[in-house]
Amino acid sequence: MLNFTLSPEQVKIQQQARDFALKELLPLAAYYDELNDLPVDLLKKAFNTGLLNGSVPKKYGGRELGPIEGVLITEELSAACLGLATSLSDNALGLEPIILSDKENLKKKYLTILTQEPKFICFATSEPTMGSDVAGMRCRAVKKGNDYILNGTKYWITNAGIADYMTVFATVDPQSHHEGICAFVVERNWEGVSVGRHIEKLGQRASNTAGINFKNVLVPAENVLAGPGEGFVLAMRTFTRTRPSIGAFAVGAARSAMEFAIDYAKKRQAFGMKLQNFEAIQFKIAEMYQKVETSRLLVLKAAWEAANGIDPIISASIAKFYATEAAFEIASEAMQIAGGYGYTKMFPFEKLLRDIRLLMIYEGTSEIQRIIVAGHALDGYKPVMPPLEDLPILWSEGSTKLFDDEMKGKTAWRCRMCGYVHYGDTPPEECPSCFFPSTAFKKIWPV
Ligand SMILES: Cc1cc2nc3c(=O)[nH]c(=O)nc-3n(C[C@H](O)[C@H](O)[C@H](O)COP(=O)(O)OP(=O)(O)OC[C@H]3O[C@@H](n4cnc5c(N)ncnc54)[C@H](O)[C@@H]3O)c2cc1C
Repeated sequence: MLNFTLSPEQVKIQQQARDFALKELLPLAAYYDELNDLPVDLLKKAFNTGLLNGSVPKKYGGRELGPIEGVLITEELSAACLGLATSLSDNALGLEPIILSDKENLKKKYLTILTQEPKFICFATSEPTMGSDVAGMRCRAVKKGNDYILNGTKYWITNAGIADYMTVFATVDPQSHHEGICAFVVERNWEGVSVGRHIEKLGQRASNTAGINFKNVLVPAENVLAGPGEGFVLAMRTFTRTRPSIGAFAVGAARSAMEFAIDYAKKRQAFGMKLQNFEAIQFKIAEMYQKVETSRLLVLKAAWEAANGIDPIISASIAKFYATEAAFEIASEAMQIAGGYGYTKMFPFEKLLRDIRLLMIYEGTSEIQRIIVAGHALDGYKPVMPPLEDLPILWSEGSTKLFDDEMKGKTAWRCRMCGYVHYGDTPPEECPSCFFPSTAFKKIWPV
């Protein structure tokens, strides 16, 4: 059963997010980008509309929206402003480790608060000296009885400046890599927690990004989300669940770049005709459309797998690096179609290009996604085809007979080095093509 139709409920959710994006985000996007500031009231408005914390289970007061609904919402918000969409989606990242954990007390406390009040939670693995190499973190968690004491710094943390709560990953021993990593829910107002100044960025400037420092922060036993080793697994499971959303960020922004480029091509005149009449422009638009569609399909497949209990690790990685890189190409081509105006601040193209560039970096760089997919293709993937040395490439020079008649009673041997096929009861003493000995031959027929 394969079905590309959204349910009426999903269409409603998509429309709700689209309405919010067009009415509330789009008019503010350029202003807050220029201001380099996050409008917190907007996040509160999104909370009141039900667009934050959608994934929280109903038993804690949430909407229990699945990964497909999540990417539908993300695409719409990102189409209006990627910076605002990143901050609007950050609660989903911060609370996912709590949803995935088995700590009922933490779910009950924090998920309930997050659905009842416009509070914010951020997610902190990265540090000043590491991002991709999560197992190489240095922020220390020292056990004291059943509690832990945190010391260290997290960096690049989205919404750190506004967060009431933080899902923090730290290690009991930096030498033990994965095995030392734990996870905690930390409250912003606990003693020893301080947040750094907002980090100035190239794009997504309306999204708050800052460092967090922990100085002898006492984390009570009940706020331990995952013990040593389990924390790393929890971080990876979180990324797998949330990574399709990064692809959805790309789809939304790329869709807007494409739509603006189409609009411009329909109106701008050059050499006595509309840009849309030039084949070079049409081909750019066709490729933009193809990439938006392909990206969306990949994102939805990853989300569908997550929704159906299939580990979407590979499809989420593919969706992330394909969609984010495609979006950057689309934004660049859209700017090209808009010519000089595309390069100005009076049009949306330059902001889209700046904003989209970040998508290839956060939540696992493009290189890290390639490492994941290459690892699967080389080690995990089960091929359908036989190995090359067993490939039954059989032919007979100039024969017009049917294959079955031709091969009846014959034995075929293939040279594993050069591929030469020898017919006979035994292999030749030496390959007439590459001169390797008979041991280079493998029987390939009858199979
Ligand atoms: C605006 C913004 C918001 C962010 N928000 C958050 C957040 O909310 N929470 C959080 O925890 N983090 C956050 N991050 C951090 C982000 O996830 C990291 O920046 C990212 O994972 C890359 O890590 P890094 O910057 O340390 O680069 P590095 O890991 O130092 O990598 C540098 C370069 O080397 C490449 N590289 C690294 N290892 C390999 C390898 N094995 N093979 C090939 N190439 C490799 C990388 O792909 C990259 O190109 C945010 C970052 C930014 C910029």
